[in-house]
Amino acid sequence: MVTSTQIQLARRPVGEPVDDDFLITSVDLPEPQEGQVVLRTLYLSLDPYMRGRMSEAKSYAAPVGLGEVMVGETVSEVVATRSEHYAVGDIVRAYTGWQTHAVVDQRHLRRIDPAVAPLSAHLGVLGMPGFTAYAGLLEIGRPKEGETVVVAAATGPVGSAVGQIARLKGARAVGIAGGPEKVRALTEEFGFDAAVDHRSPTFAEDLASAVPDGIDVYFENVGGPVADQVTRHLNTYARLPVCGLIANYNATSAPEGPDRLPAFMGRVLTLSLTVRGFIQTEFVPTHAEDFAREMGEWVLHEKIRYREDVVSGLENAPEAFRGLLKGRNFGKLVVQVA
Ligand code: NDP
Repeated sequence: MVTSTQIQLARRPVGEPVDDDFLITSVDLPEPQEGQVVLRTLYLSLDPYMRGRMSEAKSYAAPVGLGEVMVGETVSEVVATRSEHYAVGDIVRAYTGWQTHAVVDQRHLRRIDPAVAPLSAHLGVLGMPGFTAYAGLLEIGRPKEGETVVVAAATGPVGSAVGQIARLKGARAVGIAGGPEKVRALTEEFGFDAAVDHRSPTFAEDLASAVPDGIDVYFENVGGPVADQVTRHLNTYARLPVCGLIANYNATSAPEGPDRLPAFMGRVLTLSLTVRGFIQTEFVPTHAEDFAREMGEWVLHEKIRYREDVVSGLENAPEAFRGLLKGRNFGKLVVQVA
């Protein structure tokens, strides 16, 4: 019998999640049936979308139920098998959530070749966030040579890939991040053409100087005050892939100040903007193969660089997750579980 240490959703958070919203507990797992394997979690991905799953509000995916394991993608090792296709020691991507072990049907696994890249990279640049950047930017943003692409949360797995792919397509990449250390990394580590600190009191002026020719693609990751400033610089026919609005995820009320929607809709009209939201799964059937091939090559040849923020120990997941929603992570946040 295998016992799994799990982090379950104990209560629906109001605002920022607190410790009492989570419950750490141990559960005996059922014996694997024909076609199932027992997995040991090596790495757990922590992602902003998990905040939405903690809430009951209507969304594109069902919420985590109270008393259920928090959802999440993992890189795991097969430790027992009743599958013809998976042997003990195989490394797989699975969706087993915040727990140390799981019993899973073979249909829900994707094998990983450990020789291709460090295992945790399959949760970041080579996984869902990298794919989100690739598909959202190329399908909706469609950057052209010489155009200006702006993205915030730019040192994170989505934003850093957006900026670097934009440059590979010949565009000028401008990144927005929180704090001097992240801003420095944008130009020095990730090769952005310019970088701006949204926490600086001179953010508005710094942004204006960083986009002298206006903005052709704004890859929307954050919303809030950052988006208010960025959208003032949009060019005619600019494209806005709306990927995430992390500034709102812990919000309990509408933002203070004047209603900015009329001014924004005025720009949508007069600048003939394309504003298109997306959930990355929409593009899996059309873009997953190209992504695996192209991104694999870019990462192998260091044309795309990535940074990870690895937290040790499943018990530290709630605190790390809180930090993700406030910008304490620096790079793709993963928990090393085993
Ligand atoms: P990151 O690792 O970039 O982490 C989130 C970052 O957001 C923080 O590090 C912080 O960076 C920034 N941030 C947090 N709060 C604010 C704020 N109030 N204003 C501005 N920036 C803020 O996350 P990911 O790369 O995984 O995700 C980026 C976005 O993409 C998220 O909004 C996420 O929900 C979305 N997403 C959407 C998908 C889809 O299918 N549509 C799929 C995957 C992700 P800093 O310190 O630099 O400000």
